[in-house]
Amino acid sequence: MRVLILAACLLAVVSVEVSPQRVPSVARDAPPVAFLVEGADASLQSETVEIMRFAHAELYLASGFSIADTVRVAYVRRGQSFDSVVGGRFPDWGVAAAVGERQLIAIRSPADYPLNRSIRETLRHELAHLHLDGLSGMRQVPRWMHEGYAQQFAHQWVFGDDLLIARAVFVDKAIDLRDIDGVNSFAGPRAQLAYAQSYLAMNHFLSVYGWDGLQLFCRSVRNRGDWDDAFRQATGADYTAFQREFNAFLKARYNWVAFLGDTILLWLGLVGVFIVIYVIKRRRSAARRAEWEQQEAIEDILYGPIQRRGAEDPGPSENL
Ligand SMILES: [Zn+2]
Repeated sequence: MRVLILAACLLAVVSVEVSPQRVPSVARDAPPVAFLVEGADASLQSETVEIMRFAHAELYLASGFSIADTVRVAYVRRGQSFDSVVGGRFPDWGVAAAVGERQLIAIRSPADYPLNRSIRETLRHELAHLHLDGLSGMRQVPRWMHEGYAQQFAHQWVFGDDLLIARAVFVDKAIDLRDIDGVNSFAGPRAQLAYAQSYLAMNHFLSVYGWDGLQLFCRSVRNRGDWDDAFRQATGADYTAFQREFNAFLKARYNWVAFLGDTILLWLGLVGVFIVIYVIKRRRSAARRAEWEQQEAIEDILYGPIQRRGAEDPGPSENL
């Protein structure tokens, strides 16, 4: 079965090298990388290669490190087994995977599946995984780091993620960073929380320890493969200490006062309240106007002739 799938995919292979004149000028010296796209029509192939070329140039520009010279992108159609393409069990909620050892990105074909995210975001996310794999010499790094790094690069943070994490922190259900290593076995909603936390954890890591911290971490992992050592190199303390630091950051960011004082939710809420008040006032004044008009109509009927008569009478003062 797997042989048949690979054979079918190979029929659709296209090979395109990074073209120096199309990438951002500052990254023109990025090493050329060939992107082999399988299982896509001509338009999706060229879109894929274009996205990958720019993403590769950006990653190289940021890090000075290049992925290996050939990357395969395999679009997996409905009739194919995703597990057999990536060579392992793949969760139902997943739409794409990166396999570092094989420089492979497998992605459910948009022709057969709703991806929920754009192709661009999905491809950038998976390429960032390959990049981090390369930086760490194919050694394992914490899963939250991988997912956080990939999401940062693909800009995958949505407003709902804030609410998701806030709810988890308020009810003390945030996931320990170590437990995120098992995210592939999580059910959908818990996996969503794990991804959102990964994003925040990596964001926190980079904002405190910077790109240099990540480089130190990856170099240490590449050389020794020990996460505690790598955290000491990057942060000055071990993994447990970083986890404590992140938990404290989460609690500080997602307490009620900070949440209401710092989030767009408050402003949206205020705008909503003002709109409701405005609509109520408009309705009340319209009702009052209608009431006055009705009353005037009644008064016209009752007193109209007297008033008209008064108006016809010039009165004594006019004669003075
Ligand atoms: Zn990922």
